[in-house]
Amino acid sequence: MKYERELPSRRSVPVRLRDWKEVYEPFPTESLQHQAARCMDCGIPFCHVGCPLGNLIPEWNDLVYRGDWADALDRLHATNNFPEFTGRLCPAPCEASCVLGINEEPVAIKQVEVNIIERGFDALTDADGTLPPVMPSTTTGLKVAVVGSGPAGLAAAQQLTRAGHAVTVFERADRIGGLLRYGIPEFKMEKRVLDRRLAQMEAEGTEFRVNANVGENIAVKELQRDFDAIVLAGGATAARDLPIPGREFTGIYQAMEFLPPANKVQAGDLAEHPFSAAGKHVVIIGGGDTGADCLGTSHRHGAATIHQFEIMPRPPDARPDANPWPTWPMIYRTSSAHEEGGERVFSVNTECFLGDDDGNVRALKAHEVEQTVTDGRMSFEKVEGSDFELPCEMVLLAMGFVGPQRAGVLEQLGVELNDRGNVSRTSEWRTNVDGVFVCGDMGRGQSLIVWAIAEGRSCAAAVDRALLGETDLPSPLTPDAAPMGVR
Ligand SMILES: Cc1cc2nc3c(=O)[nH]c(=O)nc-3n(C[C@H](O)[C@H](O)[C@H](O)COP(=O)(O)OP(=O)(O)OC[C@H]3O[C@@H](n4cnc5c(N)ncnc54)[C@H](O)[C@@H]3O)c2cc1C
Ligand code: SF4
Repeated sequence: MKYERELPSRRSVPVRLRDWKEVYEPFPTESLQHQAARCMDCGIPFCHVGCPLGNLIPEWNDLVYRGDWADALDRLHATNNFPEFTGRLCPAPCEASCVLGINEEPVAIKQVEVNIIERGFDALTDADGTLPPVMPSTTTGLKVAVVGSGPAGLAAAQQLTRAGHAVTVFERADRIGGLLRYGIPEFKMEKRVLDRRLAQMEAEGTEFRVNANVGENIAVKELQRDFDAIVLAGGATAARDLPIPGREFTGIYQAMEFLPPANKVQAGDLAEHPFSAAGKHVVIIGGGDTGADCLGTSHRHGAATIHQFEIMPRPPDARPDANPWPTWPMIYRTSSAHEEGGERVFSVNTECFLGDDDGNVRALKAHEVEQTVTDGRMSFEKVEGSDFELPCEMVLLAMGFVGPQRAGVLEQLGVELNDRGNVSRTSEWRTNVDGVFVCGDMGRGQSLIVWAIAEGRSCAAAVDRALLGETDLPSPLTPDAAPMGVR
């Protein structure tokens, strides 16, 4: 009751646009302890339910309030392998379901989380900057292959390595990390944060193999022969396209063609972006987080103008009655990239792209739409007379992902997909192929880092049980678990 919700300030826009570093200023310890003090230690902590990991939030809020940082870190790691990722990147469903949120601003849970882990890294790192490894107390002599090194694959790998298995992570990209490495921009999470956790995993014994595309340069049969279990964690990488007239013009790219080279430039692996937004009029189609990442990246390239299109209407500023606490609020949000500029356009549909004589995109044609819902089915009606043309030399498609790529490892293993196009799995995270398990976006469909980590942890428990007949590993989720909703 004594303190208001407070968050760290963001660096000023003109300053942060000159670099790619994270946007937040440090937060004073005293302010953080005030934020932790706002937690009511609820008898029924709904924050636990909102968090797929089941994070022990009131426990570590109280430990931070008391200044017991070491125990707070211990409690944080008890449920989350990588709080430094979620503390920076999670949309925080825990905060949306915080009981305080009924009539006040919720507890700043994510801020407490990231500060516990950052202090932990500062206090515990060796002289070479590595978090001490948590070594297994026993080795089983059994081998597990993890295909894909995003948060799901990394969580599964760390849990299984610590349980004593010999784990090899196969990653087709040239660096480890999945979307944490190639996708999420540096200004949301600097890659040194990922590298220091990978150093701990290597010290624990997890083996990483990059440029290892299972189903292409690594034969599926080789994996089945050499490993006792396989965990598929290849993500939902098939992007939704926009097959309208003019899609073939040069200058129209998928978000995931645009974002990874920007990461590579920051890593020093590429001298310059192959198709920078510098000086261009850019349109981003898709109003979600991936679109916002394209926006922040285009700002830093120095785009002339940027429009972000969204077919849905502008969300309300506050929860509507049909979207009550503690469900995830579908409200208008302003990310750091939105704060930096660009124009957001809602209720708009793109009809076609127009090109110049050289086959480059020069404009797009669009119109406003009105959303209608009939018998629960949503559709969009054109608003007559609302047609417009917008000049642009670059278009970025950020309309989500339709599921995992089928060609390659999935087809060669012969795994079955469900009616949503994701890999089918049993309650024990098994696919239809003997010894092959699945977790993360590959089984769930496009989701969030926190769900991917929770899936990786739960899948690891299932693999451990399958290999040894029993397991001590925690399993926060069942494969069919879903965010809280209203029926
Ligand atoms: C641009 C972007 C920004 C995002 N920002 C956020 C955010 O801020 N917060 C948030 O919570 N979520 C965010 N998400 C969603 C989040 O990143 C994903 O839900 C999460 O990374 C899924 O984890 P995963 O481990 O299942 O898969 P991924 O992270 O997609 O990793 C899968 C990995 O498997 C590899 N792979 C695939 N097939 C093979 C093969 N045959 N052999 C070897 N390797 C293979 C891929 O190369 C990839 O590296 C974002 C998504 C995108 C696209
Ligand atoms: S719901 Fe909010 S106030 Fe209650 S225990 Fe969780 S963080 Fe604290």
